[in-house]
Amino acid sequence: MSGTGHTQYFAPPAPLAGGPRNLIGLSRAEMEEAVSALGEPDFRARQLWHWIYHRGATEFEAMTSLSKPFRSLLAKHFAADRPSIASAQISSDGTRKWLLRFPDGQEVETVFIPQEERGTLCISSQVGCTLTCRFCHTGTQRLVRNLSAAEIVSQIMLARDEVGEWPASSEDRKITNIVLMGMGEPLYNFENVAAAMKIAMDPEGLAFSRRKITLSTSGVVPMMARCGAELGVNLAVSLHAVRDEVRDAIVPLNKKYPIAELLDACRAYPGTHNARRITFEYVMLRGINDSVEDARALVELLKDIPAKVNLIPFNAWPGAPYECSKPKDIAVFSDTLFAAGVSAPVRAPRGRDILAACGQLKSASQRLKKSEREPATA
Ligand code: SAH
Ligand code: SF4
Repeated sequence: MSGTGHTQYFAPPAPLAGGPRNLIGLSRAEMEEAVSALGEPDFRARQLWHWIYHRGATEFEAMTSLSKPFRSLLAKHFAADRPSIASAQISSDGTRKWLLRFPDGQEVETVFIPQEERGTLCISSQVGCTLTCRFCHTGTQRLVRNLSAAEIVSQIMLARDEVGEWPASSEDRKITNIVLMGMGEPLYNFENVAAAMKIAMDPEGLAFSRRKITLSTSGVVPMMARCGAELGVNLAVSLHAVRDEVRDAIVPLNKKYPIAELLDACRAYPGTHNARRITFEYVMLRGINDSVEDARALVELLKDIPAKVNLIPFNAWPGAPYECSKPKDIAVFSDTLFAAGVSAPVRAPRGRDILAACGQLKSASQRLKKSEREPATA
């Protein structure tokens, strides 16, 4: 994929032979198959789905609308497990971050950002990231693997457990929006991300509308059309520069899919119109991409795309090679865009004190020794 040469892949853990199979992450059809293998009709799968995704049940014993013998049978063969929480932190601004650990020892971070008018859950799609954007902490992590659909969905379920919002009623939710902006490049793990988002969007379960889900990509052009057609979620694009030589240096994927191609894919993204714009993320790096000329060039680049810009003050991390732009320069940049009719709010950093802000996520998975990563056999 990336050819950067420093990346190691590990397959997701295989289920133990003969052990319970996790039902989380299965599509409706797969859940029906699993239930019919136990000799039960399809409507049992619908009941099970409701218990798992609407009620958040983790124990089959609690699923009281199912017969006792069926509950025991389910418990013998299946589980509705969550990942374990390796650590949980709360920022002084209320942002919560969970470091989740999967059975193979790999870890990812999930962040909940409560705001007055909404609550956004930022979820990860990979352990680490194969791409190496120079300003991003995740990109420095050596070990990488794709998350399974189950591992992606269970971040949402675990957050609901933690904020205490089962059943998943649609009113007065704390978690109202989901953003795929945590660790990893979601369009490099599209199959699993798509399977997980279809579960998240199912109206009889977690019930997030596609308009409440935003997928952020660093610009994997060949996957963008499929993302729009199959999921129809909101798109955010990590643009960060207006000229290829600058973007090549900070987002190396640009060498493969340069700005013009990326913007063509944005123009073709289905469902984009003035009421549903593409968000362009732009990290403010001092002296690199933050001049007034850059702002003017950005207006020009976006002139025929229904777009809004999100200016992200660079969040530092230990050893980062950049500094954040000066507040005055960020304000001028934002004003220049607004004056030209492009909405460009500055994203208020959240959870910086617990390294939960954009681009600060990085799990300690890389520090685990091989012996610790692999579940003991025998
Ligand atoms: N891989 C995807 C999604 C995860 S990153 C992507 O790159 O779009 C989410 C956002 O945080 C991206 O826009 C990313 O460029 C930005 N980001 C990364 N490092 C950052 C940092 N140190 N400070 C501020 N934003 C950062
Ligand atoms: Fe990966 Fe996104 Fe970080 Fe780039 S910014 S290294 S694509 S997570």
